[in-house]
Amino acid sequence: MHRNPHPDLIKAGKIAARVLSEIEREVRPGVSVLRICTLAERKLLEYGATGLAFPCNVSINEEAAHYTSPHNDSRVLPERGLVKVDLGAHVNGYLSDTALTVDLDDSYEDYIAASHDALNAAIEAVRPGVRLGEVGAKIERTIRQHGLNPVYHLSGHQMSRWTLHAGKSVPNIGTSTSARMEAGQVYAIEPFSTNGSGAITNGSSVYIFSNNMTDKHKLDRLPTEFRDALRKRFGTLPWASRWISSKKYDIDALLNTLLRAGAIHGYPVLLESEGGLVSQFEHTIFVSDDGPIVTTRRDSESQIP
Ligand code: MN
Ligand code: MN
Repeated sequence: MHRNPHPDLIKAGKIAARVLSEIEREVRPGVSVLRICTLAERKLLEYGATGLAFPCNVSINEEAAHYTSPHNDSRVLPERGLVKVDLGAHVNGYLSDTALTVDLDDSYEDYIAASHDALNAAIEAVRPGVRLGEVGAKIERTIRQHGLNPVYHLSGHQMSRWTLHAGKSVPNIGTSTSARMEAGQVYAIEPFSTNGSGAITNGSSVYIFSNNMTDKHKLDRLPTEFRDALRKRFGTLPWASRWISSKKYDIDALLNTLLRAGAIHGYPVLLESEGGLVSQFEHTIFVSDDGPIVTTRRDSESQIP
């Protein structure tokens, strides 16, 4: 059977690609992180997304991922360093997930090249039947050729409708996993390069959450109401504490109650364990019978298959 990507998958990819190219131009020293997040999220909806795949992440230097602005964030981009912008749209549940890194004063070219080349090498390897550990080996080899280390605690991931992390992982190092890509599947591939060891630790800040849709804990009336409202609004996809405001609820207290009960899941800011600098590039790829279809390719990247 010849499998083609769903038109909504293609649309979700194009929307995210367009927004990421536009946002890339906004990433400069002194710019507010909150402005980047809200601008990206507004554009995704403006350009036709049904909704956001997840909150826009703007992670700086040793932060590998999962920083999104909280309410009233006063953080601004530094004079130099590596800024990862990671965003995605969904169209009727068909997802995109894509990221790039901006080098604020062009002093970390190797980091940009390492993750970018690694992503291209991985994409070239995509075909039905390829072993995921082999894709990881291509990523690892490319990053090491640039004299950096792969962030081995993070991986790419299969995606399915309404589910960002579904099933199989795409490691950022060579592994012996027997899992293989199959025609018709969708993957986000996301190499991270660092001058640290490549291990990740959880930071203390948590600004991104998702619902545990099957949690049936008996909670008080207010937390139950809040949990049901979150499920109704966001379903299975991640959301930001910044997106929630209420006169009725004490949001922080309720989030803590739901976290403790296991009714929601928190995603802490992820830090390179040695404080190393981290770069990342990411694309969403449909595995067709003929090879990769990159749904999130930007106009400036015509060399990618
Ligand atoms: Mn991503
Ligand atoms: Mn991803």
